[in-house]
Amino acid sequence: MCGIVGYAGRRDAAPLIIEGLKRLEYRGYDSFGVATLGSGIELVKHQGRISGYAGSAHQLHGKTGIGHTRWATHGIPNDANAHPHLDCTNRIAVVHNGIIENFSSLKRDLISRGHRFRSDTDTEVVVHLLEEAYAKEHDILVAVQNTVPLLKGSFALLVIVADDNRLIAARNQSPLVIGIGDGENFAASDMTPVIEYTERAIFLEDGDVASLKPDSVEIFHDKIPVTRPVELIDWSPEAAKKGGFSHFMMKEIYEQPKAFFDTLNAIDTDVLPPAARHPSSVTVLACGSSYHAGLIFRYLVEESCGIPARLEFASEFKYFPPPVEGLVIGITQSGETADTLTALRQAKAHNCTTLAITNVLGSSVSRIADATLFMRAGPEISVAATKSFVAQLAVLMQIMNAWAGRRWAGVLQHAHQSIEDVLHIDLSAAVSLCVPAKSIFYVGRGPFYAVSLEGALKMKEISYIHAEGYAAGELKHGPFALLSTETPVIAICMPGETYGVMISNIKEMKARGAPVIALGCEGDSELPDIVDVFIPVPETHRFVQVLTTLVVLQLLAFYTAVALGRDVDKPRNLAKSVTVE
Ligand code: GLU
Repeated sequence: MCGIVGYAGRRDAAPLIIEGLKRLEYRGYDSFGVATLGSGIELVKHQGRISGYAGSAHQLHGKTGIGHTRWATHGIPNDANAHPHLDCTNRIAVVHNGIIENFSSLKRDLISRGHRFRSDTDTEVVVHLLEEAYAKEHDILVAVQNTVPLLKGSFALLVIVADDNRLIAARNQSPLVIGIGDGENFAASDMTPVIEYTERAIFLEDGDVASLKPDSVEIFHDKIPVTRPVELIDWSPEAAKKGGFSHFMMKEIYEQPKAFFDTLNAIDTDVLPPAARHPSSVTVLACGSSYHAGLIFRYLVEESCGIPARLEFASEFKYFPPPVEGLVIGITQSGETADTLTALRQAKAHNCTTLAITNVLGSSVSRIADATLFMRAGPEISVAATKSFVAQLAVLMQIMNAWAGRRWAGVLQHAHQSIEDVLHIDLSAAVSLCVPAKSIFYVGRGPFYAVSLEGALKMKEISYIHAEGYAAGELKHGPFALLSTETPVIAICMPGETYGVMISNIKEMKARGAPVIALGCEGDSELPDIVDVFIPVPETHRFVQVLTTLVVLQLLAFYTAVALGRDVDKPRNLAKSVTVE
């Protein structure tokens, strides 16, 4: 988790790093810090968020520096635990993203050798180990190369040492990219803080150690110099800014028609490996929202293509792997979700053909999977996934389309217009019912059950109202006990085989006093009479209805959270990409 930025160039490093950290804040935001090579190491670090920060860190001297915005894993968020961390001599500074799994034993040994610890973090062992290695080698690059093999776990590390203008970077299972500028070079968790200065990127591999100076980047693997490809990142800097919207989440919801359309048309299913062209069955591995995209896929691919599909939480798969064979699809927006990466590696070890779906070019998952399909959602800054979710569905629907002989090509080509149609829908009556609620139930059947789960997740993530998605028929097997006038139910009730039974379910809920908000098709003659708030969406193909109902639920969560004064883009306790297990 967390965001890191490093700079080696000709400009003052601190203001640049601070701006970069603000862009990366979506990755973690409980504390932040910057260290530069000024007169010795100059350091400022604080508990709290960097957004809006105008303090003394801007005045740090030096043209080389490192910064960090933290999502605590070891040690509470406070000033002492904020990164960068210094060694006992105050000459070496380190920032770290990830978890050092063997930190306890390393810390015990370091303390017995006389090191003084100033934080409760796992990270601090790294800087004391570097202190020992540097005392022996007098070269910070070699010190890092000798220290990295002692560490178990995941890390992206940036290191600076007094009186040496190099920035050293090391990576193992945590994202780290190098931005190649003109007379300046950057290292960061992703390209968002860098795209303003350069579009040339090198994605480091696990085990790589890099040395950055203003005019050079050297990369080593097992101490041997290696070259890595320079990739061009075509995100515009504007895409990472708010573009006139009040919140990134709103901007990203409004970008969904484009994200869907661009992704749909960028996917070339002809490049799929043979085992992914006509599979007899498929397994999907994912977490969080990506899991919900997988569940929508499971319903649609079974009912529309007749292909048996299985869906597993990537976090469970690692410890309880069921027998798998054939095609395994891993879905991860960031391409760095630790659980999904581990699960895919395991699937590979079982000789499965692995296909990754991700939004981030060069991310780890694309190096693990046999083939990768990239979404074209662009950078997603708001912590709650919206356009990346819709883009995942674009990829998954395009895969289904390929498996079904391109039967839905026409439907999919126009889907973005239907998404556009629901963006301006009036949700004020529904928001009024949700704002005072302590608990909200979301119900649907089939793929709309999966949409309910995602709608409920959005609501709890950003409004902090307890919300649960249920398969509509399941509510009476227990949760009915919770229904009252204070627990609104949001029901997705679309035409089709389950329409009648959904109407019965809604009546059962109304009979328990629950206010019901129903999403149905325009022109529905029954729903408006039996529910408290009816939200009509245009009648379209089933695939498209999944998209439109989903977007309505995103908007409902957004407006409710705004009405409650929540920090929509950075909800408490969360971070964007979950790079720890
Ligand atoms: N494990 C480190 C800590 O708790 C780094 C966490 C992060 O990636 O932000 O400080």
